[in-house]
Amino acid sequence: MTSYAEFHRRSIDDRDGFWREQAGLIDWETPFSQVCDYSNPPFAKWFAGGRTNLCHNAVDRHAKTHPDRNALIWVSTEVDKEVVYTFAQLQAEVQRMAAILLAQGVKPGDRVLVYMPMIPEAAFAMLACARIGALHSVVFGGFASVSLASRIDDAQPTVIVSADAGSRGGKVVPYKGLLDEAIRLAQHKPTAVLMVDRGLSPFERVPGRDHDYATLREQHMHAEVPCTWVDSTHPSYTLYTSGTTGKPKGVQRDTGGYAVALAASMKHIYCGNPGETYFSTSDIGWVVGHSYIIYGPLIAGMATIMYEGLPIRPDAGIWWQLVEKYKVTVMFSAPTAARVLKKQDPAYLKKYDLSSLRALFLAGEPLDEPTATWIAGELNKPIIDNYWQTETGWPILAICNGVERAPTKFGSPGKAVYGYDVRLIDETTAEEITEPGKKGVIAVEGPLPPGCLQTVWRDDERYVKTYWSSIHNRVMYSTFDWGVKDEDGYFFILGRTDDVINVAGHRLGTREIEESISSHPNVAEVAVVGVADQLKGQVAMAFAVLKDPSQADTPEAALKLEGAIMKVVDDQLGAVARPARVRFVTGLPKTRSGKLLRRAIQAVCEARDPGDLTTIEDPTALLQIKDLFTPS
Ligand code: AMP
Repeated sequence: MTSYAEFHRRSIDDRDGFWREQAGLIDWETPFSQVCDYSNPPFAKWFAGGRTNLCHNAVDRHAKTHPDRNALIWVSTEVDKEVVYTFAQLQAEVQRMAAILLAQGVKPGDRVLVYMPMIPEAAFAMLACARIGALHSVVFGGFASVSLASRIDDAQPTVIVSADAGSRGGKVVPYKGLLDEAIRLAQHKPTAVLMVDRGLSPFERVPGRDHDYATLREQHMHAEVPCTWVDSTHPSYTLYTSGTTGKPKGVQRDTGGYAVALAASMKHIYCGNPGETYFSTSDIGWVVGHSYIIYGPLIAGMATIMYEGLPIRPDAGIWWQLVEKYKVTVMFSAPTAARVLKKQDPAYLKKYDLSSLRALFLAGEPLDEPTATWIAGELNKPIIDNYWQTETGWPILAICNGVERAPTKFGSPGKAVYGYDVRLIDETTAEEITEPGKKGVIAVEGPLPPGCLQTVWRDDERYVKTYWSSIHNRVMYSTFDWGVKDEDGYFFILGRTDDVINVAGHRLGTREIEESISSHPNVAEVAVVGVADQLKGQVAMAFAVLKDPSQADTPEAALKLEGAIMKVVDDQLGAVARPARVRFVTGLPKTRSGKLLRRAIQAVCEARDPGDLTTIEDPTALLQIKDLFTPS
């Protein structure tokens, strides 16, 4: 058996040989002529010359060999429904959706924006796009009209697929009004909107633009839409992620590289086998939903559970009940969910037969030791932390038990995953850090392995400038995370180097929230920082300077204004981006050149030393914030 160290070394030293072997895990219509074309760094073309299709690999090839195996298991505790689709049934539904999209004029390379709750039609829409060579651009259902409008303008979709409403904790969350407002705000107008009517929230139809999914589905009941074979480098989707500027970036993924990367990760990292069931508790609006609710498990021939609902409703045993019922072997969630469960009666974790479950993977945010120890003890299963980003699409750091069993270390997501030449870089000297325990920026030598972003949608320059130019004099991919490595090669993540924050495993750009708050007529200036939180990992905290401070001169007035500002954020970006508090100050701490001292603000909010403040223009501004956080 190969040791993991050898496996990893080969993936770097014999890159093409290594990935040629992994490419055998998927079907190719035309074999590739080159494994990796890196003639134009940092742009990597994986499996150049090859032609394949993501939907074929996720659905059709299994529908042919195992038509009656479970493929998509939809469970909603919001509307109390459970529907199981076999591979044959999923293939039929995807063909119906594909036929509808084609009839609406969607062509290969066109974008289809998916703004949907966790319902099967969302999965059909994504797979249908892949089937016909169109790109899906899924926008998380929790985002509101301004966020949605900016994504519509960037993706310029031909068609938008949406639904009347989602539901959260039994409360209906209408989507259509937000969508209509977003389309009104956007410069780009889609030619058609396909509406799935769940009967949850009545809505107005725009004549000529809005179409009813159920009616069209009936018309295409027996549709046969063959997979369109596309070049391996053909983009499969864009997915927006927050960065340091207000404008979200469209992460663009290819087809062949992504399929190979996911297939390999299912084998070497998640250890899921065909015919088994995978349960990822994420949402299709996030990268984990793309890679490990939809494509990864299906490519591996597994059934995947798509769950609409909360982890604690009807009670905190619901996830484990599903594990028992569907004999889940691999489960994937986020540390925040584990912290939510930790607050509930632990008896729920013992109530069900979890013998099928091999491991629980957690990712998306730092996994704290008390949570990891607690859940490992209660479940009596391995808890495997893994670290990655929307950009990479699959883990950068993990324990690859499919290659060689290795111990986990609390607080560490593990070692560099095969294919990633991970280095720790000294921020000031740009030298590589080899000394164990010394902090550096986690960076990756190019080319990035298959499956990672090809570029930023329609903005190659931004791709190079953002990701490959931040390390002085070196062309290296920066993760924008601090980390340290121990003597055994295990990494520990120490937080972001930029202004991105992570709330309950969801990445938010502080700039976006600041821009939204600034649109309130009484806000002159605002700073938003991420502050440590026991449950959510981090929460956003806003400090605003008012144009008219008299509107917040009593505690009641301040509270009212705070509520009004939060409503602005809710309406524009969605409740996910709402800051935990908006506090009013008379000035913000800045350097003499006017740069906001966010790290210093964050430090005082977390009762830490703010560090070197010799460049600060007005120290009282920081003291004011400190006072707000010091119990009197
Ligand atoms: P996103 O693109 O939204 O998945 O966010 C990616 C960011 O989340 C990373 O750059 C890290 O800052 C953080 N992150 C993801 N996984 C982990 C993990 N296992 N441990 C610590 N931080 C993580």
